[in-house]
Order: sequence, then structure tokens, then C-alpha cells
Amino acid sequence: MIRIAIDGTASSGKGTLAKKVAHALGYQYVDTGALYRSVAYMAQQNDIDWNDEEGLSSLAKRLMFRFRWNQCNLEVYVDNVDVTHTIRTDEVGKGASIVSAHQKVRDSLLYIQKDFAKSGGVVMDGRDIG
Ligand code: C5P
Repeated sequence: MIRIAIDGTASSGKGTLAKKVAHALGYQYVDTGALYRSVAYMAQQNDIDWNDEEGLSSLAKRLMFRFRWNQCNLEVYVDNVDVTHTIRTDEVGKGASIVSAHQKVRDSLLYIQKDFAKSGGVVMDGRDIG
């Protein structure tokens, strides 16, 4: 089993490419942007401020993330709740950008990303994924 990392700048098409590669190989796809979006969304749900670095970091550690193919569509689950569409709003995107600036949040999510990679047979994309 191999691990494929696709790096690139914003809007460079890395997500589209990563999804196609993962789907073609039958590999797990880890959308790192979706992890940041999920933390921002779940923070809203739990009344945690997007500037509360400690609160966000411990929230990120507690959450259980899962990606699942539904035919050609990738679904995102957090704590077994389908957040595929709810994390794609402009507001959550803004939140993702704020929460991703906190080093402790990045550290928590890096740990989770490494855990996904351990299983092998995975394609991950993100600007710092290498
Ligand atoms: O790619 P997407 O728009 O879903 O990512 C949401 C936000 O998460 C980005 O605007 C960026 O601030 C952050 N992000 C990040 N590092 C990654 C992936 C996303 O900081 N590897």
C-alpha cells in the first residue's frame, strides 16, 4: 500500500486531481481542507470561538473524522454526522481560514493526518501535506 501526497497552491486543482487518483485506485482520500472546515463548523456548534486556540485544538483532538466514497462523491463525516455540505458554506470557509492560522490547531490536525496515512492506500492533498 502506498501513500500519495499532492501539494499545491490554492485553486491549483490539487483537490480535483487527488480525488480522481484516489477514486481510480480505490484508495482513501483525505481532504485536509475539509478537516479545517469541520473544526470551524464544529466550533460554531459547540460555542467555541474561532480565536480560542486552546479550545479549538482540544476540540480537534476529540473529533472523529471519516471520509467515505458514495459512488463518485466523497462524503465527510464528523462524529458520525454527515457534514459534506454544511462545511462548504462561505462562512465556514472563512472560519476554516481563521482556525487554520492557529499553530495548535495545525498540530492537532497534523497528528490526525498522520494517523490516516498510517493505514496506507491513501491520497492526501493540501498545501503543506508533503
Ligand atoms: O481547501 P479548502 O478551501 O477546503 O480549505 C479551507 C481552508 O483550510 C483554507 O482556506 C486554508 O486556510 C485551510 N487549509 C490549511 N492547510 C491545508 C488545507 C486547508 O491551512 N492543508
